[in-house]
Amino acid sequence: MRNQDDLFAALSKSTFRSRFRLGPKEHTYLEDKTLPVILEHGRQFVLDRLAPAQPKNDGRQTPMRGHPVFIAQHATATCCRGCLSKWHGIEAGRELSEGEVEYVLRVIERWLVEGRNEECRNQNEERIKNE
Ligand SMILES: [Zn+2]
Repeated sequence: MRNQDDLFAALSKSTFRSRFRLGPKEHTYLEDKTLPVILEHGRQFVLDRLAPAQPKNDGRQTPMRGHPVFIAQHATATCCRGCLSKWHGIEAGRELSEGEVEYVLRVIERWLVEGRNEECRNQNEERIKNE
């Protein structure tokens, strides 16, 4: 597990990771459902798709769209066990501990909060331009 500030600094230097953004649809969904509910979905995704020692379809288990958490997972390299191992130093081939599940959720949460703020700014700028 990595220090979050170091992690986010490294992610921002990755062209692939930093390309992921919340679109207007995911942003609206996040605002409607509220962050705690979205993170509960996230916990279920992580437990089902990431936490087992041998996740099903590992490497392809996280869709590229359809839920804010999926986008956050690609953006933060918490999408599969290969990325967890490479970026977060969490070895593959064994079940995630409770602490590791919490860690993954905190990383996703931070990205969602930052992404939400950015999309809010964009929408406000759009509104001001159109007024
Ligand atoms: Zn991955």
